[in-house]
Amino acid sequence: DVTATKGNEFEDYFLKRELLMGIFEKGFERPSPIQEESIPIALTGRDILARAKNGTGKTAAFTIPILEKVDTSKNIIQAVILVPTRELALQTSQVAKELGKHLGVAVMVTTGGTSLKDDIMRLHQPVHIVVATPGRLVDLASKSVAKLGQATMLAMDEADKLLSPEFQPVIAQVINFMAKNRQILLYSATFPVTVKDFKDKYLRKPYVINLMEELTLKGITQYYAFVEEKQKVHCLNTLFSKLQINQSIIFCNSVTRVELLARKITELGYSCFYIHAKMIQAHRNRVFHDFRNGACRNLVSSDLFTRGIDIQSVNVVINFDFPKNSETYLHRVGRSGRFGHLGIAVNLITYDDRMNLFRIEQELGTEIQQIPSQIDPSKY
Ligand code: ADP
Ligand code: MG
Repeated sequence: DVTATKGNEFEDYFLKRELLMGIFEKGFERPSPIQEESIPIALTGRDILARAKNGTGKTAAFTIPILEKVDTSKNIIQAVILVPTRELALQTSQVAKELGKHLGVAVMVTTGGTSLKDDIMRLHQPVHIVVATPGRLVDLASKSVAKLGQATMLAMDEADKLLSPEFQPVIAQVINFMAKNRQILLYSATFPVTVKDFKDKYLRKPYVINLMEELTLKGITQYYAFVEEKQKVHCLNTLFSKLQINQSIIFCNSVTRVELLARKITELGYSCFYIHAKMIQAHRNRVFHDFRNGACRNLVSSDLFTRGIDIQSVNVVINFDFPKNSETYLHRVGRSGRFGHLGIAVNLITYDDRMNLFRIEQELGTEIQQIPSQIDPSKY
């Protein structure tokens, strides 16, 4: 249970009063376990390598100590928060702005796919915390517009993704631009061995937090249905008619399939948005924003939306196409059941997916059951 904590209170951390106000106004009553583990340690300046289940409050676990330590009397960039996708950057900067609302802290979000000129203009004004995707930040730092030389805090969310070969060289560049006496906070729900090199090279005696002992994907009941590829849409139609969907995310394995499926769903008479990485950024932002605000019940997505996205009203995740590995599975399915809410996941399994289904179930030590004809509404 994500609310089963050691019994600490936010007041116990001697945070600035203005920060406490932001925390309480956001509706947080007491720290979640990952926050209880992180906040006091991060405040001491120590590096952290933390792993905790989806939807348990990792964002605030690193954002609260950063906000506490930022000195707003100095108009320089003091902290960098890196995330792998643009939507996650928007979401995270929003959390930082809300929690820091009364601190007078200036949070800037910068990602690819937006105007570089606007970012340069923005950097003429004070910025204390930058939330960014790595590529754009390196762009700005190498032009010396974003001055990171006195930035002493670096948080990486979805850290294993950021340390994958695709990102790692850019991350090394960001670190080189930053102050030498920096603190690094790494957070993820999944940590493969690949982060070991990074840890050995950049972290100094990190405090390791691992809150994964409890069942992964707890609170999410997972089902499978065996179908033939050509029956998938029909099957989805049945699910739509039977399930009590608050909001759903439906995952496909390719951009083309996302668009095709979105069209089919609309033809079936259900409202649906779609999102994938090949769309222009302004469009992506609008879809993300509108879906979050409940403008539409269903969202068809590629793996762009797999990590970190936090929309509490999503109670159903459907893998229209089954993912290839357990890490992707975990992040996709973890989009429902956030912060103690319940959720369900339904996997459409073709003959070719069967081996994968059993392997993923084993690797995650979780249970994926055959879908019954009726699903108990109390499960989600
Ligand atoms: P994670 O990154 O671990 O997957 P998030 O940081 O996205 O999880 O948080 C999940 C949800 O829980 C968010 O909607 C967030 O506002 C909420 N939340 C986080 N911490 C608390 C808290 N201490 N009390 C109540 N809700 C919280
Ligand atoms: Mg997260």
